[in-house]
Amino acid sequence: MLSRSIPCLWITVCLRLSCHVSGGDAQNTKEVILLDSKAQQTELEWISYPPNGWEEISGLDENYTPIRTYQVCQVMEPNQNNWLRTNWIEKGDAQRIFVELKFTLRDCNSLPGVVGTCKETFNLYYQETDSEVGRGLRENQYVKIDTIAADESFTQGDLGERKMKLNTELRIIGPLSKRGFYLAFQDVGACIALVSVKVYYKKCWSIIENLATFPDTVTGSEFSSLVEVEGMCVNDAEEEADNSPKMHCSAEGEWLVPIGKCICKAGFHQKGDACEPCGRGFYKSSSQDLQCSRCPAHSFNDREGSWRCDCEDGYYRALSDPPSVACTRPPSAPQNLVYNINQTAVTLEWSPPADTGGRNDVTYRVICRRCSWEPEECVACGPNVGYSPAQSGLVETYVMVTDLLAHANYTFEVEAVNGVTDLSRTQRLFAAVRIATGQAAPSQVREIINKKVQQRSIQLSWLEPQQPNGVIKEYEIKYYEKDQKDRIYSTVRSKSTSATVNNLKPSTAYVFQIRALTEAGYSNYSPQLEITTQEEATAATVSSEQNPVIIIAVVAVAGTIILVFMVFGFIIGRRHCGYSKADQEGDEELYFQFKFPGTKTYIDPETYEDPNRAVHQFAKELDASCIKIERVIGAGEFGEVCSGRLKLPGKREVSVAIKTLKVGYTEKQRRDFLCEASIMGQFDHPNVVHLEGVVTRGKPVMIVIEYMENGSLDAFLRKHDGQFTVIQLVGMLRGIAAGMRYLADMGYVHRDLAARNILVNSNLVCKVSDFGLSRVIEDDPEAVYTTTGGKIPVRWTAPEAIQYRKFTSASDVWSYGIVMWEVMSYGERPYWDMSNQDVIKAIEEGYRLPAPMDCPPGLHQLMLDCWQKDRAERPKFDQIVGILDKMIRNPNTLKTPVGTCTRPISPLLDQSTPDFAAFRSVGEWLEAIKMERYRDNFTAAGYSSLESVARMSIEDVMSLGITLVGHQKKIMSSIQTMRAQMLHLHGTGVQV
Ligand code: AMP
Repeated sequence: MLSRSIPCLWITVCLRLSCHVSGGDAQNTKEVILLDSKAQQTELEWISYPPNGWEEISGLDENYTPIRTYQVCQVMEPNQNNWLRTNWIEKGDAQRIFVELKFTLRDCNSLPGVVGTCKETFNLYYQETDSEVGRGLRENQYVKIDTIAADESFTQGDLGERKMKLNTELRIIGPLSKRGFYLAFQDVGACIALVSVKVYYKKCWSIIENLATFPDTVTGSEFSSLVEVEGMCVNDAEEEADNSPKMHCSAEGEWLVPIGKCICKAGFHQKGDACEPCGRGFYKSSSQDLQCSRCPAHSFNDREGSWRCDCEDGYYRALSDPPSVACTRPPSAPQNLVYNINQTAVTLEWSPPADTGGRNDVTYRVICRRCSWEPEECVACGPNVGYSPAQSGLVETYVMVTDLLAHANYTFEVEAVNGVTDLSRTQRLFAAVRIATGQAAPSQVREIINKKVQQRSIQLSWLEPQQPNGVIKEYEIKYYEKDQKDRIYSTVRSKSTSATVNNLKPSTAYVFQIRALTEAGYSNYSPQLEITTQEEATAATVSSEQNPVIIIAVVAVAGTIILVFMVFGFIIGRRHCGYSKADQEGDEELYFQFKFPGTKTYIDPETYEDPNRAVHQFAKELDASCIKIERVIGAGEFGEVCSGRLKLPGKREVSVAIKTLKVGYTEKQRRDFLCEASIMGQFDHPNVVHLEGVVTRGKPVMIVIEYMENGSLDAFLRKHDGQFTVIQLVGMLRGIAAGMRYLADMGYVHRDLAARNILVNSNLVCKVSDFGLSRVIEDDPEAVYTTTGGKIPVRWTAPEAIQYRKFTSASDVWSYGIVMWEVMSYGERPYWDMSNQDVIKAIEEGYRLPAPMDCPPGLHQLMLDCWQKDRAERPKFDQIVGILDKMIRNPNTLKTPVGTCTRPISPLLDQSTPDFAAFRSVGEWLEAIKMERYRDNFTAAGYSSLESVARMSIEDVMSLGITLVGHQKKIMSSIQTMRAQMLHLHGTGVQV
């Protein structure tokens, strides 16, 4: 029987040999370690059952630090079932747990006499519980995670150092729901040494971005999920309006897609990741301003963190003045005031003040006072005085004051005012004149307040003028008969404010006006007043409404008007319809046809009045007997999609896809269904799905298309994740671009270009499909309603098409960029699980999808070019095809390590990959691919030259303690490129 000391022997050896297995990278990763058996120096005391199975054994690691290991080697006896269970592991916040195992395993072939009993795997289990469950071990309560096999086993008799390899395996469990869990290892007869067990989960560590703090965040439970996190503004910052800060924590513990931001409040400015107060003598009035500014003229402050500066004494800021303008003061007095009297009116004129106070909003106001002669006492002139153009707010430097009293004494003060005059408490400054008015006629008679109307006389009374300007001698009443052809005036005079006018005609309209007379002359006439004397007879009259002749006439006229309107309306309506139809894209298309006589142009089937004509213009009618339907392969919008065979007379039989129109369709559904054929039938290109024909004269109605064996591209890529070379993927993209170039040249805008609408045949040829009018988009499950109306597949659509429905070949180019991303990430969903709203916002803020894993930087740059905001800046499909052709011809350009993806290389400028010969050391190379964190791991393991690195296998990389799969891939991909370049440079291969 094999001694139990055997495993002990080889674990000791192994650890000495694999001294390059470093302590891992916990210090610089996003990991939170829940258990690390290597870190524990006392006994682990896990439960082992039965007792002669797993055994805890001490060893030494490469630094001669004691470590605890578990070993088992019951390879001679059949039916082994040895269990080892860890202590309870509290999971904390974690949802997805990573279990990293390091172990060595002995090759059964090297053990004599163990055939049939020796195994080379063991099983990993876990059990979730809310608390510790004691030391009993019930197998049926454990859930199996995986069977673990060694990548490297070793042979006892062949203890060559090269063969001694430590296996590292990583498994992921989750989502977990209880407070903690146990891990268990089941051995069924292998010879294993479990060197280390590390259990951890990933976190995005707290960071500050755009002045918002994002707390430590545990990654989501799914591999592809992003956790959306709201940021908290740092001190003295506030959220930008409608733009609250958010970030997304990826499954790898990295922060992605920052949206929104915080900005420093008024009085504070940004310094690094914090807001600092503005210094003394500086201010910042709004959070929208970026910088603090020096206090404007005549203002100061002696505090830090001010949002404005205070005015010096005697200087002010008007309410409407922004804090950025200088403080100002009231203007000085107007200059050179002169006047001119005309009876009871005075005109004043002046020049602007010498000092406007630093403002340009100077206006003038006039203060009028009437003063007694002796002793001089003045009172305000009151509301009866008129000012032209106005009393205050005068922009001009003159005013006319009217309706003053005759023979009176007045003073006029003219003051210049500006926006701060009313704030100032300093003494007012004005120019003044004193004047005396002369003799003046009375003002107008005020309103006529009473009238008594009879058949032949009218009695009037009125109010005396407001300003009689002397003694009124008499009033003159002037009147005339309103309808009299030759206007003859009559007058009546009165000493009082009433008069009776006699000898008038009954039922007659008269017009009256009155004026007053003093020493200084007559006043103006009062406004005209029309009065009709009473009727003499009261004979009944027939109203027009009751007159049957008038009624008939009115009805006849109204009828005629309505008729005229109807006829006109009809003509206008018809003309409008006719015009609007002609105004549709149809006419535009005809124009294009005319414009490019050499190019075949797409014709919108909607422009055909009879849709049947459109179908038969562009699609061949097939005889249903030539078609053999075999099986259903999918569900289309209008019915089933089947595969089958088509045999046309004189031609060889071909595989086809047959789209059928379900029974009970409406005429509109039939039209819409056949519309796709009317469009597809116009195209003839190897990268556009080919229409064989239609069956419209039998039932079911069918569209027959070339058969694409691998179905739609997105599902196809997901099914074959990671299985193609970059050249193969670029080949697919080239095909799609060529198809799109053809469609764009024909003037066809696709509007729904996405991997799900590309079909793939058995030779991996990709063809553009899913044609139709905008309503086809409406049937796309990805399309959602946007604020601009209509449904749009937001993640694939250019911003201008989302915002104002500007669909062009340039917006198709944007969608093509998204298809590139889908292809290079093997069918990953663009923008992962972000909401459509967040996608729109992120794009608006300039965020673009990062390079998918292993994506050559040139391809990512091409995607970024397709996602230029300005659509004129995006490449044309023709250029895209050219760029991809160049890459395919020169595959080295596709091998650049991902680490350099962020370098701004423009494929339009034809930059080539970086040259590895340029790196002088392993350190420099790691830096270039942003993996310098592993520099010590490489050094400790003895990889000191690039040549030795170029020989590394994935296992070598893993044995350095690089556990992150993404990093392993990144390093390996770079090593492969390096190897290719070395081969190219030296003509020698590197043996791996
Ligand atoms: P569609 O109505 O065009 O979206 O088609 C529905 C489904 O039928 C697609 O997702 C494909 O899986 C399948 N399909 C459509 N056309 C073809 C074709 N020409 N060859 C093979 N499969 C097809």
